[in-house]
Amino acid sequence: MSGESNGRSDSPASALAERRRLAQATLPERLQAAGGLTQGVARKISRESGLPEATVQGVGSFYHLLARSDRRIRVCTGLSCALAGATEQLARAESLGLPVEGTSCLAACDVAPAVLEDRQVHPHCDETLLSELASRLETAPQQTMTAEAQHWRGHVGPQGSPPQQSAFGLDREPDFSGRAYRAAADLGSAGVIEQLEAAGLQGRGGAGFPAHIKWSAVLEQRDLMRYVVLNADEGEPGTFKDRELLLRRPDLVIEGLAIAASAIGAREIYLYLRGEFGGPWQSTVAAIERFETAGYFPELSFRMHAGQGAYICGEESAMLEALEGRRGMPRHRPPLPVERGLFGRPTLVHNVETIAAVPYIVERGGAAFRELGRGEAGPKLYCVSGHVRQPGTYELPLGVTLDELIEAAGGLVGELKAFSPGGASSGFLPASERTRPLDFGSLAEVGSMLGSAGVVVLNQSADMREAALCQLDFFQQESCGQCAPCRIGTRYLHEAVLGLDGENPGGPRLELVDDVSWQLREGSICGLGQTAPLPLTSALKHFPEAFRPRDGAGGS
Ligand code: SF4
Repeated sequence: MSGESNGRSDSPASALAERRRLAQATLPERLQAAGGLTQGVARKISRESGLPEATVQGVGSFYHLLARSDRRIRVCTGLSCALAGATEQLARAESLGLPVEGTSCLAACDVAPAVLEDRQVHPHCDETLLSELASRLETAPQQTMTAEAQHWRGHVGPQGSPPQQSAFGLDREPDFSGRAYRAAADLGSAGVIEQLEAAGLQGRGGAGFPAHIKWSAVLEQRDLMRYVVLNADEGEPGTFKDRELLLRRPDLVIEGLAIAASAIGAREIYLYLRGEFGGPWQSTVAAIERFETAGYFPELSFRMHAGQGAYICGEESAMLEALEGRRGMPRHRPPLPVERGLFGRPTLVHNVETIAAVPYIVERGGAAFRELGRGEAGPKLYCVSGHVRQPGTYELPLGVTLDELIEAAGGLVGELKAFSPGGASSGFLPASERTRPLDFGSLAEVGSMLGSAGVVVLNQSADMREAALCQLDFFQQESCGQCAPCRIGTRYLHEAVLGLDGENPGGPRLELVDDVSWQLREGSICGLGQTAPLPLTSALKHFPEAFRPRDGAGGS
């Protein structure tokens, strides 16, 4: 494992340009070390690094974990945490004058409500914990991500599947034998890519793009300086499977990355983990060291990077910007990352689950992986939270129904009203869709998506207007602001719902939702803006009664 790359050593770029590139790439880490944007920090870093002060200020103010220097307790206000009472807890803590604020999803929906202390996530937040954390702020030193990492693990299942029927084996011990890596070496690049194609492996981060096409595209580039990047900036509300994979089976992730790098001819691997993933960070570093100590992958460098709190950096081109030390704003395409990605070089970017599937495919063959699916190829890690008895991460055939998933998660709490099948971007579906296969194709048929397979289950007690508002608020907070339709439209949609009750008299109107949604879909650069209207439009479609003006409200 090593530090920051000098990636362009074969480039004719001047020494000055190289120094600037390095200064930029390490800017988030410098800001983190300085404790965020305190007064005078931008000037100091600017003097030391040679970067313009405005650049330092611009980067620092973009990321939630860097933008504020004062220490605050952050209560997750994502949908699953809201269903578990986070909003009420936050309001109570505010009324007591505690230094708290809301924050976007902490990838801990299975232990809702979650709370963030500096960079450490705590599960099952309650009033006592909030008071305890608030008093610790006064006395205890600032928690860094790795100083006191969270090691709690969520529920996973099904337990005890035979190895041949489970690609991830979340309940099994890590395996550092390097068998899959040796098998990949025997197959060679073409053989590995052939197996990926036979497996039908589609990107498990949300887009569902066939993996073998990405690998082939990088391999075809004339530029021989290539990178592999692991996208572990998990932040889609309802999703926490990357956290469990990195905590429990980091061996699969590291071996998968090594196989990918060898297959496409890369020597440097960047791992971008959420800045709040203390436990996963430690288990990942330990896995890299285990392999390296055993003499594996001597030709490869693994470079760990901590995210600084920006959901948009889960978008692959935004993450590349963040890795280069800039504001994490999605890039225009073309060119695609496979052509010009990290530092302008061909780059293979994969989500954690996608890359963790590679060792199984290489060892047992693509056909064996494909057969683990139902209708569509392979197994899937589904995250289930909300109103189920055992929220957790479940490895099941791709294409199970919601009913089967709920059964795996110990059953429903109450009666099913609605569910969000794949994170905030997938909107809501009514209970009548409970027997629809949860796969890419079947969900697209009803205007939804599998996305990250972060399934949030809502029972009869859920207020669908509040649920839609919760998701709209998330998109409004997390829009990077680069394009006007998204920057303005996400706010507009949120205010249009609030306007119903006269909370926002003279504000936007619900009748214009269709038009604004169209503008967001057509005019946004990335998926965030394109899908942001879905929670509202789907809730309006399936639960119109939830949006009637309430008694005594002025409405609009
Ligand atoms: Fe940023 Fe939204 Fe535009 Fe995406 S759609 S680039 S998040 S402003």
